[in-house]
Amino acid sequence: MKLYSFHTLVLGSGAAGLAAAVRLRAEGVESVALLTEGLDQGTSINAGSDKQTYYKPSLCGATPDSPRSVAESYLLAGGADGDLALVEAATATRAFFHLVDVGVPFPRDAFGQYAGYRTDHDPARRATSCGPYTSREMCRALIREVKRREIPVYENRVAVRLLVVSLDAADGTLSQKKILGVVCVDRTTRDFEVYRAENVVFAVGGPGGLYKRSVYPEVHTGAIGLALEIGALAKGLAESQFGLASFTSLAGRSTSLKSGVVRPKEFRWNVSGSFMQVVPRFISTAADGKSDVREFLTEYFTSLSDLYGLIFLKGYQWPFDARKVPGSSMIDLCVFHETIVRGRRVFLDYRANPAGYAFDALPDEAKEYLANSDAEAPTPYERLLRMNPAAIELYRDWGVDLLNEPLEIAVCAQHNNGGLAVDVDWRSLNVAGLYPIGEVAGTHGVARPGGSALNAGQVGAFRAAERIAHDAGLNALAPEIDETFTTMAKAEVARLRQIVARALDQKCDWRTERDAFQERMSVSCGILRDLATLERAKDDASAQLARLVGDGRATVPTSSNVETPMSDDAIETLRNLQLCLAHKVYIDAIYESVAAGVGSRGSQITLDPTGTPISSVFPSNWRPQSEDQTFRKRVFYTFLSSSSNGNNSFATRCFWRDAKPIPEPDEWFENVWRDYREGKIYNRSRFDAGASGD
Ligand SMILES: Cc1cc2nc3c(=O)[nH]c(=O)nc-3n(C[C@H](O)[C@H](O)[C@H](O)COP(=O)(O)OP(=O)(O)OC[C@H]3O[C@@H](n4cnc5c(N)ncnc54)[C@H](O)[C@@H]3O)c2cc1C
Repeated sequence: MKLYSFHTLVLGSGAAGLAAAVRLRAEGVESVALLTEGLDQGTSINAGSDKQTYYKPSLCGATPDSPRSVAESYLLAGGADGDLALVEAATATRAFFHLVDVGVPFPRDAFGQYAGYRTDHDPARRATSCGPYTSREMCRALIREVKRREIPVYENRVAVRLLVVSLDAADGTLSQKKILGVVCVDRTTRDFEVYRAENVVFAVGGPGGLYKRSVYPEVHTGAIGLALEIGALAKGLAESQFGLASFTSLAGRSTSLKSGVVRPKEFRWNVSGSFMQVVPRFISTAADGKSDVREFLTEYFTSLSDLYGLIFLKGYQWPFDARKVPGSSMIDLCVFHETIVRGRRVFLDYRANPAGYAFDALPDEAKEYLANSDAEAPTPYERLLRMNPAAIELYRDWGVDLLNEPLEIAVCAQHNNGGLAVDVDWRSLNVAGLYPIGEVAGTHGVARPGGSALNAGQVGAFRAAERIAHDAGLNALAPEIDETFTTMAKAEVARLRQIVARALDQKCDWRTERDAFQERMSVSCGILRDLATLERAKDDASAQLARLVGDGRATVPTSSNVETPMSDDAIETLRNLQLCLAHKVYIDAIYESVAAGVGSRGSQITLDPTGTPISSVFPSNWRPQSEDQTFRKRVFYTFLSSSSNGNNSFATRCFWRDAKPIPEPDEWFENVWRDYREGKIYNRSRFDAGASGD
C-alpha cells in the first residue's frame, strides 16, 4: 500500500479545487497536491447552460454597488448566514479578476468595463458569462495555472474514506475531530493508497449521484458522504435547486467533441434562456416515446396567451420556485405531473409552433424581447437560430439536430444550496483541518442569485488558502507518517476490503443499489415533498445502508477480502457506501425540515392535507403548505452522530440556529489597517459560529 504525505491535499479538481491549489501555492504553501478522479471529471468542466452565469458585483457604467448590497441579495430568500454572504460579496471582485488574469475570457468593452446582465434572484445587473461553458473555461485556465506552478496532480484516484482522530468523547452530540488523511483507490493500479495531510481542502462538488433524474453530468457523483460519515456538520441540506433539463442518449450518435471532454452515455443540458424564450412546442408521448403524441400543456391552461407567456418567462426564471406557483413554475409542475404521475415522456419540439401560437397574442414583454432579438420568425427553430445560433450548434456537437428530432426533458436536480457547514475561512465547524469549498460547502440559503455557485467556489478557495497559509507560516512541511497513522490506515483499508468483499459475495450489484437510492431521492426529495413519503423513504434508506455496510465493524467477516487488483465493480461498490450514506442523511434532514413546518419555499413545495389545491387539473393532494416565514431567519444543521461503542449506528441529528445577520464591522481605515498589520483579522475560532449538537 502506497503512503504519501503533503501539508495540504486538495481533493477534487473542479473550478473550486483547482483555484484552491493555485491560491495555496500563491500564498506560499509548497507542500500541496491535487487528488482527483480526473482533470476532465466533475461538474465544472462537464456542465453548462444557455448562458452559464458567473455572479460578481457590478463593474460597469454608473450602476452603484457595494459588498453589503450584494450580501443582501444572497439573503433575500432566507436560511443563510450574513457573515458568509458578506465574505462572498466582498471577495467576489478579487476572485473574478484572478480568473481574468489567468485567462478566462470574460467579455469587457473597449474601456475595460465588464458589463453585466440580470440573473435569477438578482436585483442588479451583476451577472457575466463566457457563453455556455463558463465553468469549463474557468477549469481550463486554472489547469494551465496548476501546470505552470508545477503542482503535483494525482489523477484517476477515487477517495473512499477520510481519516480522522476524535478530539472528544463520542457521546452522541456534535463531536470535534481532526483530519489526518484520505484513503483512495488508484484506478490505474487498482489498489488502495493512503495520503497523510495536515489539511484537506475538500472540493468534491455537489451531490450529483443522489438523484435519478439529474442534470449533473453523468460522470459526477460527488462525495459529501465521506465527510458526513466522519460526523462533519452540514447545513441547509434540504435546499436544492431543480429545473427543466434535456437528457439525450448518445448511443449510436456521432459527436464532434473537443479533446478533454468526457463522452457520457447521456448528454444533459438545462433548457433555460433562449430554449424557452422562443416558445417551443411541448409534447408528451406514451412510455415508448412514440405513440399517443399530445400537446399536453393545453390541458392544463385555459388561456393560450397566458401559457405561452409563462413558457417565455421560464427562460429567465429557470429554477422551479414555490413562489412562482401560480406563475412560470406551473410549467415544471405540468412536466412533473405528465412524467412522474402519468408515466408519460415529455419532449420539446422546435420544428413547429405550439397549437394556437400567435406572435400578437404573446405578452408585451415576450413580443418586445423577440422583436429586439430580431427573432419574430415562423417556427421555434428559426427563432432560436436567430436569437442564439450557438444553442443549435451545441446540440449538433453532441449529435442532436433540433431540426430533425425533439428533445426529451424532465424536472431534474441541478444544485444543492446546502452542504458542509463552514466558517468565514471555509473551515469545517467541527473537523479541524477540513476545508469544504465549492458546491460541497453549504454557504447559500433557500435560494441564491444565479451564478453565485461559481463565485462561492472561487471565494472559498481564496479564503481557505489564506487561512491555511496564515496558520502554517512559512516552510510548512508535510506531516510525518508515524506508526500510529500507518496502523490506522492499514486497519481502515482492511475494513473497506472486507465490506466490499461481503457486498460482492452477497451478489449486491452496485448498479441496482445505486438505482434504488437514486429513485428514492427523486420520489421523496424532489420538488414535491410530504411527510408520509419521507417517512417510508427514511426507513428504506436505513435498511439499504445497513445492508450495504453491515451491522457494524465487528460483524464484517474477517475471512472475506477483496484483493488487488480491484475490479470496477469493487470500486463502484466502495463509492456506493458514501453515496448511500449521504442519501440517508439527506432524507433524514429533509424529513426533519418538513416535520418542523418550514412549508413550501425555494425549489420545493411541501404538501399539506389542509392546504388549498393548486389546480383541479392536478391530483387532489397537491395542496401546498404555505411557507412559515419565521424560518427565513433560521439555519438548519445536520450531522451523523457516532455512538461510543464504535459501531456504525448512523444516527442523524438535526438542529436549528438563528441565522447570523450581515456583520457591521468597524470600517474606519486606520483601525482596519492596524488589525490587518497585527494579524487580528485571523483571530477567530472555528467555533464562533456557536454551532452545537445539543
Ligand atoms: C447543468 C448545470 C448548470 C449550472 N449552471 C450554473 C451557472 O450558470 N452558474 C453557477 O454559478 N453555477 C452553475 N451550476 C453549478 C456549478 O456548475 C457547480 O456548483 C460548480 O461547478 C461546482 O464546482 P466544484 O468545483 O465545487 O465541483 P465540481 O466541478 O463538481 O468538481 C468536483 C471534483 O471533485 C472530484 N471528486 C468527486 N468525488 C471524488 C472522489 N471520491 N475522489 C476523488 N475526486 C472526487 C471530481 O472528479 C471533480 O474533480 C450549474 C450546474 C449544473 C449541473
